[in-house]
Amino acid sequence: MDQLLPPEIAEAERAFPEALAACRDLDAFLRLKGAYVGREGSYVARLMDLLKAAPKDQKRELGAAINALKNAWEEALKARQAELEAAKKAAGAAAWDPTLPPPLPARGALHPLNRLMDRLVEVFRPLGFHVEEGPEVETEEHNFDGLNIPADHPARGSADTFYLAAHPGQLLRTHTSPVQVRTLRKLKATIHEKGGIRFLAPGRVYRKDEIDPTHSPMFHQVEGMLVGHGIGMQHLKGTLEYALRALFGPATEIRLRPSYFPFVEPGCEVDVSCPLCAAKGCRVCKGSGWVEILGAGLIHPNVLEFAGIDSKEWSGWAFGMGVERMAMMLSQTPDLRLFFENDQRFLEAMGGLD
Ligand SMILES: [Zn+2]
Repeated sequence: MDQLLPPEIAEAERAFPEALAACRDLDAFLRLKGAYVGREGSYVARLMDLLKAAPKDQKRELGAAINALKNAWEEALKARQAELEAAKKAAGAAAWDPTLPPPLPARGALHPLNRLMDRLVEVFRPLGFHVEEGPEVETEEHNFDGLNIPADHPARGSADTFYLAAHPGQLLRTHTSPVQVRTLRKLKATIHEKGGIRFLAPGRVYRKDEIDPTHSPMFHQVEGMLVGHGIGMQHLKGTLEYALRALFGPATEIRLRPSYFPFVEPGCEVDVSCPLCAAKGCRVCKGSGWVEILGAGLIHPNVLEFAGIDSKEWSGWAFGMGVERMAMMLSQTPDLRLFFENDQRFLEAMGGLD
């Protein structure tokens, strides 16, 4: 074989076993490995160039010789690497001090979104609101029909809503509002005795949105509803003012802008004075000093009637807010996906959210 190979390669081959045995640590080993079989500038790389340049009738024999040499080197390298790694591991074990205190396990905490929802519940609890829940797999009746959403409304389309292929008429709820329908039906039996109905409904909702910094196919809402005698917009505004000041600080101002949702009439969008810049204008409020925080309105009579409640006797208000959106604003998090990736560094940094 040697007569086929250039003299410096033959010399390198002779020196190899000793050089390999002389590698006392992985750094030295990797240098030697690079010099013999590395991708560039190594003996093997030089042999490959030689093979490329060789006359056709010599290629076969030369190729076989190079392959044999390369395989022998790689095998020896592999064995030596295993020895060095085992030695390193053994040295590490010897350096371990059993008298040192163990590393402490990371302590869990509530997720920032859960903490924010809990906080909303606590703000409303003194006003007599309790928590109601509903299933995440809902019927069209609860998710749309009972909320005065017309049959041809685009939100009902399969482009926006996840329908369960195996269960016609069932879907992943697109908002927490079906809890309104369920709870109105459930509590109407005691509506006279209690003088009305009031509750909060936090939970997960689903929409066919592409994942991007401000959208996710799963997110959270908190729904609030109150039914009573002679309830009007002034009660809605007063309650929201109280709640949003409890959340964002006593200097917070709110404003109502007319809007449309099928399940309320009149409907409004509610802005708060930007809590991050004291309404002076910043990136979060886009310089306006106001941030849109929720949608609300007076319960549409059709919603009350659908649940079997007399809309001539009773009236009320409802609101719904996006939890991620509020959490992003409060923590100035630019990307909603961070709340779902469970990167412990982010979750720990969010420890100060409330
Ligand atoms: Zn601002």
